[in-house]
Amino acid sequence: MKVPANNLLRHYEEHQDEYEKKALEIMRSGNYVLGNEVETFEQDFAKYIGTKYCVGLGNGLDALWLSFRILGVGPGDEVIVQANTYIASVMGITINGATPVFVEPDEYHSIDADKIEEKITAKTKAVLVVHLYGECCEMDKIVDITRKHNLYLVEDCAQSHGATFKGQATGSFGDIGCFSFYPSKNLGAFGDGGGVTVNTEALYKAFRMYRFYGSEKRYYNKVVGTNSRLDEFQAGMLNVKLKYLDALNEDRRRVCNTYLAGIKNPVIQLPKCRKDSKAVWHQFVVMTPYRDEFKDYLEEQGIGSIIHYPIPPHLSEAYAYLNVKKGSLPITERVANEVLSLPLFYGMTQAEMDTVIDAINAFVPKALEQ
Ligand SMILES: *Cc1c(COP(=O)(O)O)cnc(C)c1O
Repeated sequence: MKVPANNLLRHYEEHQDEYEKKALEIMRSGNYVLGNEVETFEQDFAKYIGTKYCVGLGNGLDALWLSFRILGVGPGDEVIVQANTYIASVMGITINGATPVFVEPDEYHSIDADKIEEKITAKTKAVLVVHLYGECCEMDKIVDITRKHNLYLVEDCAQSHGATFKGQATGSFGDIGCFSFYPSKNLGAFGDGGGVTVNTEALYKAFRMYRFYGSEKRYYNKVVGTNSRLDEFQAGMLNVKLKYLDALNEDRRRVCNTYLAGIKNPVIQLPKCRKDSKAVWHQFVVMTPYRDEFKDYLEEQGIGSIIHYPIPPHLSEAYAYLNVKKGSLPITERVANEVLSLPLFYGMTQAEMDTVIDAINAFVPKALEQ
C-alpha cells in the first residue's frame, strides 16, 4: 500500500458540494477582490483566534515582512528569531533591511526561551517566534521577556492555526500574529492566502492601508505600500473551511496519537509535546541520525516523507552575506540533518497508519545490521 506524505483531497471530497457551491456563488457575484467574503473571514477568524481584528493578505510572507515594515523595524535593527525555521520567517525580517539574530531551539523545536535574553542588545527591536510544526512556543516566558525589555513580539503562526498555549490561541499573544493560508497549512485555501491578527485599531488600519498600495482612500496614497490582498475566492473557501478547522486539527491528533502509541524503534526519536500547550500537529516530525537512509527506505516501500527543512536559513546561499558560520548553531544544524516528517493528513485510514508504523518498526540502519 502506498501512503503519500500529504493528500488534500480527503477533506475536499467530503465537502465537495459545499466548496463548489461557494465557488460558483463567488464567480457569479461579479465581485472578486476585497468584498463580503473577505470581510466575513476577517471577522470570523479574529473571533476564532481571540483578537479584535484580522486583516486578509496575499500570503504568509507578506504578513511577516509587512509586520516589520509597519512596526518600523529596518536597517540597523535586530530581530531575534529561532534558527530552525522555514526561510520565509527570516525573509520577513531581512526584506526590511533588518538583521536576524538566531537562537537555538528547545526539545520541542520552539525557540529556546531561556536563550533569548542573552541575545538582546541595544539594537534589538523585536522577537519573532515561530510555532513550528503546530507546537506552541513557551509563550508565558517569552511575553515576560519582551515586556521587560520593551520589544515587539511577532508570532509566525503559519503552522499553528488553532494551537493554544495555556488555553490561549497562538496569534493572540504578541503585537501581531502572522498567518499563511497556503493549501497545505492546517487552514489552507485553494491557492495563496495570508493574514494578520492584531488588537489595536492603529495596526488594523496600517495593514489595510499597506495591502492596498498604501492608500486608505483609493488613489490617495499615504505611504509606499504593496499589493497584497486576500481575494474573494480564497476568502470564500476559507469561510467554508474555518467551520471545520477544529475537526481537521482533531483528526491530525488522532493520527499523531496513533503514531505515538505505535512507533517503537530505538533509532527513531518521537516528537515531544509541551504540557502547557495543545498542538495542532502541522507536521509529525521524527528524528534519527540515519535520516537519509531512513527516508530512502520509506520511499522504497511507497511511503512519502518530507524534510522540514534540510538547510537552516543561516546556511542557505541566500544568507551567506550574514556571515553566520557553519557550526555556530550546533543544535539547529544537527536537527536539520535528523528531522523527517511522516505522512499526515485528514482522513488517514487505519491501514495507511499501520503501513507507516509497521515499516518504521522494521527499519534497521545498515550500520547496525548483524
Ligand atoms: C508557509 C510558511 C510561511 C510562508 O507562508 P506563505 O503563505 O507560503 O508565504 C512562513 N513561515 C512558516 C513557518 C511557514 O510554514
